[in-house]
Amino acid sequence: MPTMDSQRLPVQFAPSAMRVLILGGTTEASALAKLIAGDARFDATLSLAGRTLSPRAQPIATRTGGFGGADALAQWLRDQKIDAVIDATHPYADRISANAVSACRQARVPLASIVRPPWQPVPGDKWHGVPSTEAAAAALGSVQRRVFLSLGRQELSAFTAAPQHNYLARSVDMPQGIALPPDIRFILARGPFEQAAEERLLADENIDVIVSKNSGGDAIYAKIAAARTLGLPVVMIERPDKQAGQPVTSAEEAMAWLVHEMPRSPRGV
Ligand code: NAP
Repeated sequence: MPTMDSQRLPVQFAPSAMRVLILGGTTEASALAKLIAGDARFDATLSLAGRTLSPRAQPIATRTGGFGGADALAQWLRDQKIDAVIDATHPYADRISANAVSACRQARVPLASIVRPPWQPVPGDKWHGVPSTEAAAAALGSVQRRVFLSLGRQELSAFTAAPQHNYLARSVDMPQGIALPPDIRFILARGPFEQAAEERLLADENIDVIVSKNSGGDAIYAKIAAARTLGLPVVMIERPDKQAGQPVTSAEEAMAWLVHEMPRSPRGV
């Protein structure tokens, strides 16, 4: 006598796409969005913090703004039935990465993190490492200097503590609603930058010292190479300790990881 179960016709579920959250704001996140767009195996959303007023157009769905902390991110992952998360945030964005590790653990969602290797000093570099933006301002010293700041808008207020210097700051957008040192001018530009143009800029502006984060990657390395050629010192703000899931080093590796994770996903094909 056949059981009820064996009498049932097998139900064929159409395989559904794997739902992916990409935490973005970087070149690698945009590269991954490009790779994943139009791939029917994935249904991906790119999340941006909203730091840039007019971010680059993206080929996949985007959402903007904080989630409200780790627990809220965990809830969002559950609500959106996310199968996998890729943390492709900036090397200095350590809070969102800590939140991602905690949220993915809570929601039992696999997490991979694109870890961009830092720049390494080479002969001729004159780097002075400091642990924070505040320490960078202090490291400029008491004598007036012409300083090139290549930092996020939100970090500029630290330099109000060193008002004796002349600052030239490059950022994507004009800062608004933050305290700034009295003598500061802005160049609004978005990378990538060429070394020859960086050398011209630093020479034309009589820059004495550069303040930079060790962002890694090629897009904005030209200023570091230019400083080396011109013999200029670089006050290098050291990287924070950033939490990570499964480390990968590029958008392509993140894609390979997703394909590898797919069979484990309850929604995966
Ligand atoms: P953060 O300090 O790690 O994050 C602060 C909060 O912003 C997070 O707790 C989260 O809010 C929200 N957030 C950050 N990234 C998000 C994302 N992709 N999607 C949704 N919410 C996000 O990061 P940050 O304030 O953005 O930046 C910190 C440092 O990284 C700064 O030094 C900044 O200049 C640098 N950075 C550089 C780039 C670049 O491309 N050059 C890009 C980003 C950041 P909730 O807790 O509410 O979820």
